[in-house]
Amino acid sequence: MPSRVLEVRCKNCGEIVFKYLKIGKGRLWHCWKGRIIEDHSVREGNIVKCPCGNAIGKDEGKWIKLKPFSVWY
Ligand SMILES: [Zn+2]
Repeated sequence: MPSRVLEVRCKNCGEIVFKYLKIGKGRLWHCWKGRIIEDHSVREGNIVKCPCGNAIGKDEGKWIKLKPFSVWY
Protein backbone atom coordinates (compact mmCIF):
# COMPACT_ATOMS: atom_id res chain seq x y z
CA MET A 1 0.00 0.00 0.00
CA PRO A 2 1.41 3.43 -0.89
CA SER A 3 1.73 5.87 1.96
CA ARG A 4 2.56 9.56 2.10
CA VAL A 5 2.46 12.42 4.54
CA LEU A 6 -0.36 14.84 3.84
CA GLU A 7 -0.45 18.42 5.02
CA VAL A 8 -4.09 18.88 5.91
CA ARG A 9 -4.83 22.58 5.70
CA CYS A 10 -7.75 24.68 6.82
CA LYS A 11 -9.79 25.96 3.92
CA ASN A 12 -10.51 29.17 5.77
CA CYS A 13 -7.01 30.35 6.69
CA GLY A 14 -4.67 27.96 4.85
CA GLU A 15 -2.72 26.91 7.93
CA ILE A 16 -1.69 23.30 8.51
CA VAL A 17 -4.04 21.64 10.98
CA PHE A 18 -2.62 18.11 10.75
CA LYS A 19 0.27 16.33 9.25
CA TYR A 20 -1.15 12.94 8.56
CA LEU A 21 0.22 9.64 7.31
CA LYS A 22 -2.15 8.62 4.56
CA ILE A 23 -2.08 4.96 3.63
CA GLY A 24 -3.67 3.84 0.39
CA LYS A 25 -5.43 5.77 -2.30
CA GLY A 26 -8.61 7.75 -2.35
CA ARG A 27 -10.04 10.66 -0.49
CA LEU A 28 -9.44 11.42 3.12
CA TRP A 29 -12.68 11.03 5.04
CA HIS A 30 -11.31 10.60 8.49
CA CYS A 31 -7.98 10.83 10.24
CA TRP A 32 -6.95 7.90 12.40
CA LYS A 33 -5.44 9.42 15.52
CA GLY A 34 -2.50 7.01 15.50
CA ARG A 35 -1.46 8.36 12.09
CA ILE A 36 -1.53 12.04 12.98
CA ILE A 37 2.09 13.13 13.03
CA GLU A 38 1.49 16.77 13.97
CA ASP A 39 -1.68 18.12 15.51
CA HIS A 40 -2.33 21.88 15.53
CA SER A 41 -6.07 21.59 16.06
CA VAL A 42 -8.04 22.95 18.98
CA ARG A 43 -10.99 21.20 20.59
CA GLU A 44 -14.34 22.33 21.77
CA GLY A 45 -15.90 19.23 23.29
CA ASN A 46 -15.72 16.70 20.47
CA ILE A 47 -15.60 19.36 17.77
CA VAL A 48 -12.21 19.73 16.14
CA LYS A 49 -11.28 23.20 14.97
CA CYS A 50 -8.49 25.08 13.33
CA PRO A 51 -7.02 27.77 15.66
CA CYS A 52 -8.77 30.34 13.39
CA GLY A 53 -12.14 28.97 14.56
CA ASN A 54 -13.10 26.99 11.47
CA ALA A 55 -14.70 23.66 12.50
CA ILE A 56 -13.01 20.93 10.47
CA GLY A 57 -14.31 17.74 12.02
CA LYS A 58 -15.58 15.70 14.88
CA ASP A 59 -13.67 13.50 17.30
CA GLU A 60 -15.28 10.08 17.15
CA GLY A 61 -12.86 8.20 19.38
CA LYS A 62 -10.32 6.37 17.24
CA TRP A 63 -10.47 8.85 14.41
CA ILE A 64 -11.46 12.38 13.53
CA LYS A 65 -14.23 12.52 10.99
CA LEU A 66 -13.47 15.40 8.66
CA LYS A 67 -16.16 17.83 7.72
CA PRO A 68 -16.49 17.93 3.93
CA PHE A 69 -14.99 21.00 2.23
CA SER A 70 -13.45 22.33 5.46
CA VAL A 71 -9.88 21.35 4.58
CA TRP A 72 -7.63 20.76 1.61
CA TYR A 73 -4.52 18.65 1.30
ZN1 LIG B 1 -8.03 28.04 9.88
